[in-house]
Order: sequence, then C-alpha cells, then structure tokens
Amino acid sequence: MFKRNKNEKFVFNAQTLKYEKAVVSFGSRLLRVLGFVIASLVFSLIISSIAYMFIDSPKERILRSELNGLKQQYNVLDNEVNRLSDVLEGLHYRDNSIYRVIFESEPISNDEWQAGSGGINKYKNLEKYDNSELMIDISKRVDKLKKQMTIQSASYDNITELVKGKEQMLASIPSIQPVSNKDLERIASGFGVRIDPVYKVPKFHAGLDFTAPTGTEIYATGDGVVELVEFNYGGYGNQVIINHGYGYKTRYGHMSRFAVRRGQKIKRGEKVGFVGSTGKSTGPHLHYEVLKDENAINPIYFFYNDLNDAMFAKIIERTKNAGQTLD
Ligand SMILES: [Zn+2]
Repeated sequence: MFKRNKNEKFVFNAQTLKYEKAVVSFGSRLLRVLGFVIASLVFSLIISSIAYMFIDSPKERILRSELNGLKQQYNVLDNEVNRLSDVLEGLHYRDNSIYRVIFESEPISNDEWQAGSGGINKYKNLEKYDNSELMIDISKRVDKLKKQMTIQSASYDNITELVKGKEQMLASIPSIQPVSNKDLERIASGFGVRIDPVYKVPKFHAGLDFTAPTGTEIYATGDGVVELVEFNYGGYGNQVIINHGYGYKTRYGHMSRFAVRRGQKIKRGEKVGFVGSTGKSTGPHLHYEVLKDENAINPIYFFYNDLNDAMFAKIIERTKNAGQTLD
C-alpha cells in the first residue's frame, strides 16, 4: 500500500518518468508563512478600521455618555440661570419703579444695570472645547447676574437708609390689596387700555377691578383721612376717596354700603365699605385706583406689603390680559 505523508508533496519528473518527493526550501516555506501572516494582518487592519469608524470602543462609549450627561447638566443650568435672571429683573423693576421713586432716589440707569464686565477676555480658557459657545454664554450670564445682584443689594442698602425716620410716610402710602385676596384670583382686570364692558370699545381703565361677592369687606390700603364719601354719577357709583398725604390718594368704587364718613381718620387695613355693583358696573366688584398728584398710576406695583415676589409675578401676569373690564 502506498501511504502518503500529508505534509509531503509529489511532483512528476518528466525525465525520470516518476513521481518524486518535492523539495520545498526553508526560504520559500518562510515566505509562504510570512505572506500568510502579512495578509491576515492587513485583513484584520482593514476590518478593525471599519469597526473603528462604525463601532465605539467601551472607552468612547463612556466618554460619549459623560458628554451627554454634561450637555444635559448645562441645559439645566441654562434654565436655572434664566429663572434667576427673571426673578432678579422683577426685583430690580419693583425697586426702580416703586421703592426708589417713593423715597425720591434716582433710579438705577439701564446702562448701569445691563453693562457686561468688559475688559480682558476672561473666558479664554473656555475657548478650546467643542461646547465652548455654550460654556462661555452661561459663564457670561452668571457673571452678569452676580454683578446685578451686587447692584441690587447696594440699592436695598441705600433704600434702607432712606426709609429711616419715614415710618409715617411708609404707613400712609397705599401698599396692600383693598380686599382679602390671598390666592390672587380676585383681580379681574388691570390698569391700562381695556375693552369697555358697556360700550365695547377700547378705553383707558385707570384702576384694578377685584371681583368679590356683594358685601365683601373693603379695606383702606394706607393711613389717611377720608376725603370723599358720595354717590358718583360719572360711573363710580358709591365711592370713597382717601387722602394719604405725600401726594397719594386712593379711590374705592361701586360699593354697596359705606363704613366710613367724610373727614374720618383711617388706618391701613380698616374697613372702608362693602363690595357692590352701584354706578356703571356689570357685576359686583371693587374698582380700585391709586392716584399720585391726581394722576392714576398702576396699583399693582404698590402691593409690596402683602405680596412676595412670586405672587407679584403672578399678579403682573394676571393683569396683563387686555380683556374686558367690569368698570
Ligand atoms: Zn374698574
């Protein structure tokens, strides 16, 4: 039997007419092995570079999820900065248009309030990242907030100084709501041009309307003297006007009944009368005005004694709507 070793190769020799064992040199064997190794190396290189392009390594996956986490974190920060900025704007507005005006101190100029930090570029170290724009933007806004907080806090110190010795003035300025209104649902319409409920045309509404059932108690919003108790034929119906001094007066219209008489001294929070629908009115409500030097001004900015900043923001929102008044 002819048994052949698997590793041996036989070639036909035309001269000897025999099959002879092929002699494979070490060199060509090495070449063959090397060829195989190189081919597989090249092949695996191609495969892994394709894989590299389309499949993340575990390390990349971790980095990518960290990056996503950071981006989300930045978005949260971004919203937080916006919220703080709104709150601060509200405080600033109230300070500038009420406190500083009442105590006759120059309002903070808008230029001063809006100014950035300027000067050297302090955000240079943030410039080299993929998300540089986002990071620089937030950093800038946080810096601006910090600066505005400093300005605001200095302004409050200033106001605190001015308030000293002005207790009488503070007690007199109308600064509470004229009806009990804890949930703020009673303010039906605001100050400004609104639709007249009877003539259905735009008309200037000089006060705030509080809806409340007939007979609801109405309170004086600051210390003063009752200047007028009358039935007004111009539309206010049963009305009371209180003179608070310092140029301030308040008007309470459409009452069902009075609780004061002319010339009477009154303290903030004392009863003036009761809600009704007398005069030009489409339903029981109180029409309330604040007058400074005989000009009607928006009463909402004066509710600083019984409104925190969140409530103040809510009341501004509620009175913004330009719908119909109750007159
Ligand atoms: Zn009204």
